Amino acid sequence: MPYVWKVDEGNKVKLKDYDPNDTMHVNHASIDQDLKDLSKELGDLQELLAAAQHHSLLIVLQGMDTSGKDGTIRHVFSHINPQGCFVHSFKAPTTEELAHDFLWRIHKATPSKGLMGIFNRSQYEDVLVVRVHNLVAENVWSRRYDEINHFEQLLANSRTIILKFFLHISSDEQERRLLARETDKDKAWKLSASDWSERRYWDAYQEAYEDALSRCSTNVAPWYIVPANHKWYRNLAVAQTLVETMRQYKDEWHSELVARGQEEIEMLKKMRPHQE
Ligand code: AMP
Ligand code: MG
Repeated sequence: MPYVWKVDEGNKVKLKDYDPNDTMHVNHASIDQDLKDLSKELGDLQELLAAAQHHSLLIVLQGMDTSGKDGTIRHVFSHINPQGCFVHSFKAPTTEELAHDFLWRIHKATPSKGLMGIFNRSQYEDVLVVRVHNLVAENVWSRRYDEINHFEQLLANSRTIILKFFLHISSDEQERRLLARETDKDKAWKLSASDWSERRYWDAYQEAYEDALSRCSTNVAPWYIVPANHKWYRNLAVAQTLVETMRQYKDEWHSELVARGQEEIEMLKKMRPHQE
């Protein structure tokens, strides 16, 4: 059973059709154990990915402010070996980054074979915040959907498994979370006055997201819409989708390891011809 909505290539997304409160009839009662089991399996799969050195894995996390990108990283990847994983957070570009094409800084941050890379924001900011605030001309950002698709195809051709998650919250939920940051001393460090001013552009962001989801979901780099008003469900849904995707490669990674082991044994035999 799918826990998230996969956007099929060519589908036109209207975010109003997706309920951010949805929990897909999942029972909240056993959730802690379920997430623990999934995180553990994710850790095992990641170990195999790292050992096989055959694929890279790229996870893109996008969502409105307060949608839970940081929280997802903290909860879902708790059993991952830090040696095989990194998180890259994309902020407003530096002067040097702005002096290059928009994918320059992104490409440099992509995971090499065996690594799991998590993008906290990504190339998509260049068709989101950049579009909403007219940071470049329309004829520039409108080309970027195709450019992103080509870029992601290039990564896939080099055996990068790509999953892109849009953490979908409602406007009311964002307001509640922003207010909570003001009242809860432990959350106040996350406060950013600009979050309130960005909130005024909610509709423009939703529209920009709809275009990014519609135009850039492909078979090699699908978008998944995650109902994210409930944090427990968001974590479970992301973990489940990741594990289900990685399971499909398990046998391949295993064969890769066995073949590599065989090669090494053959080499050793050649090095020690007289010992037999
Ligand atoms: P945060 O994720 O809260 O640390 O904020 C990062 C900020 O960087 C957000 O306000 C993003 O909109 C902004 N940002 C990320 N990428 C870009 C970009 N390509 N152009 C402009 N702003 C960006
Ligand atoms: Mg922020």
